Amino acid sequence: MHTPDPPPHEQARQALLARTALLDTPAEQAFDRVVQLASALFGVPVALISLVDSERQWFKAKVGVDVCETPRAISFCSHVVSQGDMLVVSNALQDERFADNPLVNGKLGIRFYAGAPLRLDAQHVIGTLCLLDHRPRRFGPRQQARLQQLADTLCELIRQRMLLQLAEQQSKLLLTVNQAQSSFLLDRDLGAASSTILHSLLAMSQTTLAFIASCQVDDRDSCYLDIPSIAHLDAAALQWLMPQLSHDSRGYRLYGFDHVYGQAIAEGEPLVINQPALYDDSGALAGVQSLLVIPCFFHLSVMGVLVLANRAGGFDQEIVDHLTTLSDGIGTLLHVCGLEVARQAAEAELARQATLDPLTGLLNRRAFLEHCQQNQQRFTRYQQRFSLLMLDLDHFKVLNDRLGHPAGDYVLKEISRQLRRTLREIDSLARWGGEEFCIMLPQEQEQDAMQLAQRLCHTLASLPLQWQGETLHITASIGVATLNASGESTDNLIARADAAMYQAKAAGRNRTWLAAP
Ligand code: GH3
Ligand code: MG
Ligand code: MG
Repeated sequence: MHTPDPPPHEQARQALLARTALLDTPAEQAFDRVVQLASALFGVPVALISLVDSERQWFKAKVGVDVCETPRAISFCSHVVSQGDMLVVSNALQDERFADNPLVNGKLGIRFYAGAPLRLDAQHVIGTLCLLDHRPRRFGPRQQARLQQLADTLCELIRQRMLLQLAEQQSKLLLTVNQAQSSFLLDRDLGAASSTILHSLLAMSQTTLAFIASCQVDDRDSCYLDIPSIAHLDAAALQWLMPQLSHDSRGYRLYGFDHVYGQAIAEGEPLVINQPALYDDSGALAGVQSLLVIPCFFHLSVMGVLVLANRAGGFDQEIVDHLTTLSDGIGTLLHVCGLEVARQAAEAELARQATLDPLTGLLNRRAFLEHCQQNQQRFTRYQQRFSLLMLDLDHFKVLNDRLGHPAGDYVLKEISRQLRRTLREIDSLARWGGEEFCIMLPQEQEQDAMQLAQRLCHTLASLPLQWQGETLHITASIGVATLNASGESTDNLIARADAAMYQAKAAGRNRTWLAAP
């Protein structure tokens, strides 16, 4: 018995067969009719649609036999697949390739065989439409041509079926992209939105790795691709990609644009790489079987790329065309995401500015009061007390009147800087009003707060401030109050610190005063 070698491109052939999604599916009328027609037309008891899988031939439709598969090694059809042409065996007993084949000398008792190749594309035969008889037969050229016609019609049916399945998957994917856009608008999570799309894409495209990357520019004007999520079917698929990426809490990044993704972005066209070793000898694609990079547009601008890798048999034009229709939806998602990021940044900046005093950059009164409220809550929860310093510059009006407003502004800024430098990170410092500052010291008791106030007084008084060649001497008066044990209101605490500050003024300025409890 002779078992033929597999045809060239056997792996791609099997991938194509898998893509037909015919194997192990239930009987379908359209296919059954073809074998019934073949059996009647050629007057044979057995007609089959045989799909030649890696180890078996499986019958999508059959007339005249009960079995639904036989081993590939003994199948007549594997000869058709290997030679790529029709095979006619008039009498198997007289053919040394088949005489001792169990299908011939066993129960099935095949004598006659005619199999026409099911050629789905120029290179690949996925199986046969074949006729069998239990007695020898002649099968002339005219009959052979008819059988091939019928097989070609069958191929057309299979192709149409595949297109239909692809179109269904595509509309499901478009729906997924739409859902991802809506879910992003709801929860602002691009990682989750792109992950939804990617997992559907893996299933639909028979790839093992997919990611969406958006074009970004960082603070230092460096271009990079931001990759919010990567979908993969096995860890091995990730191995070539990971070393190229940098990773932090915001996700994955790929810097520079001198890579295949950058090329697709620059050209604005899908890039198909079915033989990575021939395409790029830098090693960047080592371990990739096949790669597809599709630029995603919003209007005429490329917002990012969709990348798919490792499709058995590579990426053909059909799948590229189908996936390219998704690119606009993904481009729109990336555009919306970019707008959202910019909006959030602007909102955060506005919120930050709303808490600051424009002249000194210190907290303003409103933001400072919020901090006080938070500490007040800490007192309620943990009995943690805190202290407040009210600081007012002495005779500031005189300085302003003598040297002018710009000199006053300069002093206010320098004093602010010095205060911030002297205080701890956890202390809050605010410009309370004109030349008044308020300081909150968390967890500080009266004595510690007084000591700090005295140190501030001393530091300000000895500051070497210069204005237009003149040395300025600035002093301040500070009132100190500590939240009393019953947890008084913030207003009351501030009023006590304020009153203490006036006591310091009355006592001669340039000093500190502890508020009465
Ligand atoms: P005292 O020792 O009693 O506190 O005297 P003082 O002169 O500091 O107090 P007063 O409240 O009479 O004057 C405060 C002055 O601070 C009035 C105003 O000219 C000045 N001032 C308030 N805000 C600003 C500001 O933003 N820039 C400048 N340059 N001066 C300011
Ligand atoms: Mg003053
Ligand atoms: Mg004042």
